[in-house]
Amino acid sequence: MKLLQALRAAVGEANVLIGADAEPYLTDWRKRYSGRAQAVVRPGSTEEVAAVVRACADARAPMVPQGGNTGLVGGGTPDDSGAAVVVSLRRMQRVRSIDSANDTLTVEAGCVLQAVQQAARSQGRLFPLSLAAEGSATIGGNLATNAGGTQVLRYGNARDLTLGLEVVLASGEVWDGLRGLRKDNTGYDLKHLFIGAEGTLGIITAATLKLFPLPAAQMTALAALPSLAAAADLLQRARAAAGAALTAFEVMGRITLQHAVETLPSLRMPLPLAQPWYVLLELSDAEGEAHATTLFEGLLADAMEAGEIVDAAVARSLAEAQALWQLREGIPEAHAKRGGNVKHDISLPVSSIAEFVEATNAELRRRFDWIEPIVFGHLGDGNLHYNMGTVAGTPLAVAFAHEREINAIVNDAVHARGGSISAEHGLGQLKREAITRYKPALEIELMRRIKATLDPFGLMNPGKVI
Ligand SMILES: Cc1cc2nc3c(=O)[nH]c(=O)nc-3n(C[C@H](O)[C@H](O)[C@H](O)COP(=O)(O)OP(=O)(O)OC[C@H]3O[C@@H](n4cnc5c(N)ncnc54)[C@H](O)[C@@H]3O)c2cc1C
Repeated sequence: MKLLQALRAAVGEANVLIGADAEPYLTDWRKRYSGRAQAVVRPGSTEEVAAVVRACADARAPMVPQGGNTGLVGGGTPDDSGAAVVVSLRRMQRVRSIDSANDTLTVEAGCVLQAVQQAARSQGRLFPLSLAAEGSATIGGNLATNAGGTQVLRYGNARDLTLGLEVVLASGEVWDGLRGLRKDNTGYDLKHLFIGAEGTLGIITAATLKLFPLPAAQMTALAALPSLAAAADLLQRARAAAGAALTAFEVMGRITLQHAVETLPSLRMPLPLAQPWYVLLELSDAEGEAHATTLFEGLLADAMEAGEIVDAAVARSLAEAQALWQLREGIPEAHAKRGGNVKHDISLPVSSIAEFVEATNAELRRRFDWIEPIVFGHLGDGNLHYNMGTVAGTPLAVAFAHEREINAIVNDAVHARGGSISAEHGLGQLKREAITRYKPALEIELMRRIKATLDPFGLMNPGKVI
């Protein structure tokens, strides 16, 4: 009771949710994790976040930071002890400042990613972080998970796009590191501790982000390919031809696309679903339409002549380009609607991807004759969503019943090739145990020491990451 009173004093009665009002915050997007909490609090400013953290620290109550609740590894969901306080940042949505001459933008953590992109665009600039959940994910959540998305190939992941952070520490102190500097070698770069920490070291309340020029012209195409090895060859060709102008290179398996098109009636496939692999390529040109068209069409023609591409549909308008992107971005939603699958978010050297998929598909099929690989992802970054469903006639529950065995096969295969078992989604609850098998013991120990220093009472998002 004393804690609830302190929380109400910190953020106002209306912003302390309990009972049915708190429910929407207690289950994750995939509906795989559900928990309980003493309360959900919705602070409206950094000072209010600090007051909430001090109240929770005094009561030794665990805190679970939450943004848009679109995370895929259960990082934003409390456990079922009912002890935690969920701290939702969604009310903190202000754009604090834009410095066009410095190409920077400072926003509060609860700003929805799409709103950040729009704020940049309103100043004639690009904020390039882009992912299918951008209509609900917040920039605080993006930074806490070091989100990747579809433009990493050219602009890097959330970490690469961040110049400064403001963080409320587990003690309730506010660290103001909101610097808009591209060079600052004055010791340890503390912001990188909090980026990708999934809320286990502190609560991000604001960030200063990098902006870029808007491209003068964009070209988008969907290409059909005979093999994944051909996709890797096409990537090399596109990089050589377009350099930094190649801004997206997304791969999708035929079955993955077929299920998406069958499940979401708004999706339109512009090519026959006749080849095993499809690639969505995007080129962003600084010079203009004519230059972009010549470069793009030349690239596609050369790739076709080399046998890397069998067929291609080039978008002739913004609407056609958006329709191609919807095919790619509709995949997670379509497969969630079909009941989900056993997810893996892996990264490998691009040179190993085709061999990994062939060998691991074969191994999984040997063990489980009902398995159906649902594969798509950011091939340009060596990142695949290598998910496992079931063939028609076998309920998806069968795949979930074998989740541990499937995970072990996939994760061992990734590890054996020098890859990572979490490329962009983080560890959360889902991979917290598995990572101890693959990360060197000293790295885990260093993470524990950092955690113990910044969060001595273990109150920041316990049960996640480590
Ligand atoms: C359809 C779909 C597509 C997706 N596509 C991609 C993709 O292409 N690339 C990619 O990287 N990810 C993708 N994701 C997952 C991605 O991690 C999230 O979309 C996003 O980055 C999380 O933002 P959020 O605000 O929803 O965070 P939440 O889900 O609320 O939280 C995620 C984690 O961050 C912590 N956190 C949240 N806010 C803060 C804060 N202010 N301070 C400290 N910790 C905080 C939480 O405790 C939790 O551990 C996708 C998700 C969906 C549903």
